Amino acid sequence: MGGGVDAASPQDGIVAPSIPEHVTPILARLWSSGHAAYVVGGALRDAFIGRPATDWDVATDARPDRLLALFPDAHYENRFGTVQVPAGDREIVEVTTFRRDMAYRDHRRPDHVEFSDSIAEDLARRDFTVNAIALGRTAEAPAALLELVDPFDGRADLTARRLRAVGVPEERFEEDALRLLRAVRLATQLGFVIDPMTLTAMRSAAPHATTISPERVGQELRKMLAVPEPSGGFRMLAETGLLAPIFPLLAQQIGLEQRKGPGVDLWEHTLRTLDAAARLAPGDITLALAALLHDVGKPETAGDGHFIGHDVVGAHRAAGLLRRMAVPRREADAVVDLVRWHMVGYRSQWTDAAVRRLIQKVGRDTLPRLLTLCEADNIGSGKPGDSGGIDELRARIAAELERGVPLTLRDLAVDGDDLQESCGVAPGPLMGSLLDRLLEAVIADPARNERETLLADVRSWLAVDADSSGTQAGSGDR
Ligand code: ATP
Ligand code: MG
Repeated sequence: MGGGVDAASPQDGIVAPSIPEHVTPILARLWSSGHAAYVVGGALRDAFIGRPATDWDVATDARPDRLLALFPDAHYENRFGTVQVPAGDREIVEVTTFRRDMAYRDHRRPDHVEFSDSIAEDLARRDFTVNAIALGRTAEAPAALLELVDPFDGRADLTARRLRAVGVPEERFEEDALRLLRAVRLATQLGFVIDPMTLTAMRSAAPHATTISPERVGQELRKMLAVPEPSGGFRMLAETGLLAPIFPLLAQQIGLEQRKGPGVDLWEHTLRTLDAAARLAPGDITLALAALLHDVGKPETAGDGHFIGHDVVGAHRAAGLLRRMAVPRREADAVVDLVRWHMVGYRSQWTDAAVRRLIQKVGRDTLPRLLTLCEADNIGSGKPGDSGGIDELRARIAAELERGVPLTLRDLAVDGDDLQESCGVAPGPLMGSLLDRLLEAVIADPARNERETLLADVRSWLAVDADSSGTQAGSGDR
């Protein structure tokens, strides 16, 4: 395969994958400079099982300063002790010096790392057997022969599609609680089962999951949502006792009854809505986040089968959660809007003006996703997707947009300058409220969007205001 390096031979029925062309020169440079170098980690694992492999990692006995000398355009990520080497057109290969982890504190990353000269030691500090396989060689080994280093029998687990902790599972989860969430995410993403002993250890270490940083939770969450049936990972979180420490707001949905059919509590409704969203719009993480969080305000607003204001409370909770998880601002705003407006409550009797007010309120960019969320919500409630007239509403929205009806201040036939020149309104709060009022009138009746009509409106409003303020003041001096 191209300039890639092929492993020596198939072993145990699994053929070692070939190393991609952009990674090979980095390995070659390390070998020819007297260093051991191996590809390791997630990309190698994925390549073994035929998943598209990205983000290749290289492990070596070369120390970071040596790496920077060998790869002058590399960048040293001090926080992670990783050297990022630009490779190929736009790829980055992360090159990390062999290490053994030292003391852990607070169930989070080790206090300090110690560099090592041994690939075996480096693999022993990794989390799961399928992530602890290396393919490469020492500098002295014959160039043609790559060695597969697999001390924990990760390939057997790959064949069995099984996730198993390296070493003593209890200790590994005690050391670093992030591994708990990684286990669920990897099992979901890869479609692997978690080995029983690893699973038992996860259950007992689950309370430490409160120490996982919200940003890391956010990163793992995205990956858990980007699968065809995301409910699986969340069921696993609930079953292992990880849901409450990681997502306390979601855990409150378990057992909360609502009128969505027997045996379907709010949590089950959320999971079904999530799967429906993933089916309707595969890979749309914004929608999946909204589906996961759409009813997050319900436990707080529960009262005799109604959840009044759960959309408002939910939007507020979602905003806080997304901020803590460092979800990018634009995406977080979109999710919050979706949660806020998911109770559309459409009826066929709606006037066209009501349809236009919905478009204005939600925003035309958010609407298509909102309607998909409503469909998913319906499916999650055991109803047909388009129940409640979603398809009809979609068609009516399209018709309004097609007509090019005014929806924002920019669409008005007048602007602030016109109001200033023709009606003597100075820029300021009054001008803002007059423009808002014009927009409201034009959304109710788009035919009014003519310059002279709008200016006449403004003049008459100003006259009424002057009149009534004169009356109110009871001013006799005029
Ligand atoms: P992904 O496909 O999401 O990149 P990954 O397994 O490659 O999954 P990375 O975060 O890229 O995840 O980590 C690269 C490798 O580093 C892992 O395969 C594993 O060997 C090791 N690793 C990552 N996080 C941990 C951890 N918390 N504890 C032990 N080893 C870890
Ligand atoms: Mg990776």
